[in-house]
Amino acid sequence: MIKEQRIAVLGLAKSGLAAAERLKGLGKQVFLSETKPRSQISPASLKALAELGLEAEFGGHSQKVLLADLIVISPGIPLDIPIVRQAAAKGIPVISEIELAYRLLTKPIIAITGTNGKTTTTTLIGELLKAAGKKVAVAGNIGEPLVLVDDTALDYIIAEISSYQLETIVDFRPWISVILNIQPDHLVRHGDMSGYIKAKARIFINQTGDDYLVFNEDDPAVKKMAKTASCRLKGFSKDCFKIITLDPKEIKIPGRHNLENSLAAATVADICGVDKQVVAEVLKNFPGVEHRIEMVAEGNGVTYYNDSKATNPDSTLVALETFAGRGIVLILGGKDKGTELATLSKKIKEFVKFVVLIGEATDRFAAALKQAGYSAVSRVNDLEAAVRTAGAKAVKGDIVLLSPACASFDMFANFEERGRVFKQIVKEVVGGSEPSPSFK
Ligand code: ADP
Repeated sequence: MIKEQRIAVLGLAKSGLAAAERLKGLGKQVFLSETKPRSQISPASLKALAELGLEAEFGGHSQKVLLADLIVISPGIPLDIPIVRQAAAKGIPVISEIELAYRLLTKPIIAITGTNGKTTTTTLIGELLKAAGKKVAVAGNIGEPLVLVDDTALDYIIAEISSYQLETIVDFRPWISVILNIQPDHLVRHGDMSGYIKAKARIFINQTGDDYLVFNEDDPAVKKMAKTASCRLKGFSKDCFKIITLDPKEIKIPGRHNLENSLAAATVADICGVDKQVVAEVLKNFPGVEHRIEMVAEGNGVTYYNDSKATNPDSTLVALETFAGRGIVLILGGKDKGTELATLSKKIKEFVKFVVLIGEATDRFAAALKQAGYSAVSRVNDLEAAVRTAGAKAVKGDIVLLSPACASFDMFANFEERGRVFKQIVKEVVGGSEPSPSFK
């Protein structure tokens, strides 16, 4: 229930528009406010705005925002901007889209957060519950915004939640919360590690003895944090996986990180009463999420993987560890984020037989690899040349891995486009067959 009548929505991106749409549907008076000038707003957003017939301002937040009884803020907007401070001083509540959604939802919420693995785990929980015949919506950062979910006919709502969204919750209380891991990421926004940990811990701040926290016992920061929760605790660990009946080797998604994601999802399924046989079947068959260490094709005994989502060195390290012991030909580079490269270069020296460099980051990556004493490197101009060069360097049993450790914006609209183009090229260049299910 939303009792406020006049509502200002800050930020005209996907979640802001969704909040505005839902609020309008509830008969509220909605005002949208965006810092970017109208000329920088995507045509699709402007079209959606026009269709909704809402009042909006561009190029900055005016005092008009302060006429609202409630402000809904988009996750990308920092909380220390003047208009938000002024609203706080006037006693106008400022909430996020997920808090708004929470006030409208009536069914149990399963909320997943963590630095890495959120999308994979959220999707997998959806598959497990669907396989058990439950009616679910998978929403939040993936799928449709939480605020657009109509839960009338649902059993559960499964929501991927970022730490930004958690900063502005008030009453948001999942039935099950899941914390996968905490790594030093996103520190710019949260100030330091303790700020980041505090933001993540908000996921269980309103949970009580009727609720559950599913947490990673192998992650010391998460384990410590779990001790401060007031709900029922369900830890999972790679070293003790009695929660699943199958051998971890039978889990289709590869790597230790995906074992953690699978255990987290299986723990949630167990709480929801899903049969262990059903869990085993789903884990044997769940192919993972597109662009995350995704098998693309096999040709001449070489398997091609698309890990376009690896937009920083940490994610690439995870991919390299996943394939340790295999002959890896790595396609690396893209839009340089200026990240530290020494650790990655060391790992490449240890694990990778050949590197193909593409994109803006080429010079800096080449220098870092040279510094680490690694010289099996080729530079190419585009992704097609990268696939051809990598394929020529790989022999039977090897893998060709696109795991760029960089953003994609130098050559592509986003990591999804980069991944799709890669897959298309692989299929054209390699021909090849769909990969066989057993690749470990
Ligand atoms: P998120 O939604 O949190 O970004 P994804 O499921 O999309 O997570 O995975 C993003 C990347 O993070 C993957 O390509 C993988 O390299 C890495 N990753 C996934 N799960 C984990 C995990 N449990 N621990 C560490 N890294 C992970």
